This record gives sequence, C-alpha cells and structure tokens, in this order.
Amino acid sequence: MHLHSKLPNIGTTIFTVMSGLATKTGAINLGQGFPDFPMDPDLVELVAKAMRDGYNQYAPMPGHPPLLETLSGKIELLYKLAVHPLSEITITPGGTYAIYTALSTILQPGDEVIVFEPAYDSYIPNILMNGAVPVAVPLEYPSYKIDWKKAHKAKTAKTKVIVLNSPHNPTGAVLSEDDIEELRRLVYDTNIFIVSDEVYEHIILDGIPHCSILRYPDLFERSFVCFSLGKVFNCTGWKLGYCVAPETLTKEFRKFHQFDAFSCFTPTQVALASFLKEPSHYLSMPDFMQKKRDFFQELMSATRFNALPTHGSYFQIYSYKDISDEPDSEFAKTLVAQCGVAAIPVSAFYQSGKDDKVLRFCFAKKSETIVSAVEKLSKV
Ligand code: GLN
Repeated sequence: MHLHSKLPNIGTTIFTVMSGLATKTGAINLGQGFPDFPMDPDLVELVAKAMRDGYNQYAPMPGHPPLLETLSGKIELLYKLAVHPLSEITITPGGTYAIYTALSTILQPGDEVIVFEPAYDSYIPNILMNGAVPVAVPLEYPSYKIDWKKAHKAKTAKTKVIVLNSPHNPTGAVLSEDDIEELRRLVYDTNIFIVSDEVYEHIILDGIPHCSILRYPDLFERSFVCFSLGKVFNCTGWKLGYCVAPETLTKEFRKFHQFDAFSCFTPTQVALASFLKEPSHYLSMPDFMQKKRDFFQELMSATRFNALPTHGSYFQIYSYKDISDEPDSEFAKTLVAQCGVAAIPVSAFYQSGKDDKVLRFCFAKKSETIVSAVEKLSKV
C-alpha cells in the first residue's frame, strides 16, 4: 500500500520527543507544558458527582447548556462583551482542536495565513492540512514582540487569516494595547479573519491585563477566540476547551465540529458549569503562577542560564549562549543525558529551525520539582 503523505515534511512533535526522552532516562520533565501538582479536589469531586448523578451520555453538540451560560457570564465579567451562550460559544475537545477547527472553517486551498514565529507547533501543520499557505513573520529577538512593519509586508490579497497567541507559547510574550491598534490597522477594510489562541488567558503575570480579542467588539466580529479549560484548572489531560465566535462564524464552525467530535466528555462539562461560577477559582491563577515563576527565576539566577523577559504562560525561556555553542536541539539532548533535566529547544517552533540558543522550561511544577531540577541545572 502506498499512502501519499499530506504532511511529508512534518515529523513527531517535539513535546512527544522530549517527554519520551525524559521518561526513558528518568529525567525531570520541564519540557512539555503540564503541571505535576494535583488539581483542585473540589473539581474532581464535582466530576465524580456528575457521573454518579447519571451525566454519562452525549452532551448537546455545542456543549452542556449550563456551562455555555456560565462561560458567557465569565466573558461578560472579564471582557465586558455580551456573547450569546447558545449561538456563540462551542465546547471543544481542547484548545488545539478549537484552533484547527477554526482554521478549517475559514481556509480554502491557496489562502495565506500570517503566523508569527516562534509559533505553537500545531498552527503550521493545521494550515497545511487545509491546503493553505503559512506566511511566517519572525518575532523580534529577544523581546519576541511583533514587528508590525514586517506583518504589513507579509499581507497580500490572498491573506485570509492572522493567527495570534497571547500569552505566547513558547516565549511568554503578551500583546499590548499598542499591538491591538496595529492589528486594527492591519485588518481594517479587509476580509482577514483573526484566530486568537488565548489558552493562557489566566496565566498572565506581572500585573499585566490580558488584551483578549473579546475586549474589542470591532475585532471580535472577524474572530475565532480559542481557550483551554485544561490550562485554567491544571488538568491538561482533560482536553477540554471552547471557541467563542460571532453567530454566523460559529454556525460554520459547528458544521465541522458536528462531524469531527460532535460533542465533548459530559461529566467535566457538568462539573465546570458550577465550579466556574466562582470567579476566584480562575482569578487566583495569576498570583499562584507568579509565585512559581518567581521562585524558578530566583533559583535559576544562580546558574549560567540567562533569563529572557517573559510575562505569561507556563514557560520561562533561557539563553544558554554563555554555556555552549551546540544547536539547541542537541543541547536539549545533552541536558537530558548529562544533567537529567528535559527542556524544549525553541528552534522547534520555527519552520526554518532558527536557532537563537534558547530553551523553554515549564515552571508549572511543585516546589520540590523546581528545586531538584535547578540543582541539576546549576552543575552545567
Ligand atoms: N501545550 C503544551 C506545550 O506547549 C503541550 C501540548 C502537547 O503536548 N501537544 O508544551
């Protein structure tokens, strides 16, 4: 049998590669982004209760209605936008799926998509799967801010989508009000859609407000805004997210969703419908994560790694220029082998493999994990 690959140049995701290596060698895994501390036991109990109460059959295709209602209330509270719960929010099996479905909903073969690099690793394959063309625009090193002049240069008559991600994976950069103004200029008077990946909306640090696209009604009208509940509640294995988009866009999105997943795991939706009603459950996240990031940074300051500025996400990036000349993918393997710590090489987030000698470390870990990992890293 011969299968003509639709993704001939795509290998196995770096997260699988580095987690596999960490498991095989027993290294501390600061690579793939997931917490190693327990999630809230009250939420676990609510899921168990939902199962005991018989919520074990298909949820409605768009999502469990009380959860849609609660999410709409949360959006109103945080971003002052009234979104219709039943026609503008769709529950998805994770944020990645929401992004893929949004891109599939919009793209026709040959369309161009502006993507800023380094880019979360699913975006470009998702664009290629739709026969569309990724147009990569590099973020400025080392601030990883958007150079809007370059973004304007990348815009053509074929540009159909711009993908945004704030807080940004892998760099932790965040969008500012100035960026939003520039974005407005870029899309004004065009038919360019926005796919906004905001899975780290509650992991934004240093007191910075989250410039969600949901804050700007004029931008929201052309947007699919994607979230991950696994990220908000430290349960990445739940693979539960949602997409917020205006009604006409949501209608098209659901045409795909109804034949891809149809609906998502019911008990977690039932549990979250009540758990999310208490804003402190998510408003406490920035403080909680800030303590972890600051603790990690403080310990790491005694090593030879140099921290680059980050303001959000699960990740802190470090330059290792003063330590080694090895390419980052090699250096990441050396670290696992010689030091017993796994990290992610940032070149994996560039199509070209651009290598600025930067590694990404996940700090969403127990204090003991952070202490042991940094102890090992200090020997480098
Ligand atoms: N988002 C996580 C990260 O960036 C990993 C998700 C995945 O493994 N696909 O590390």
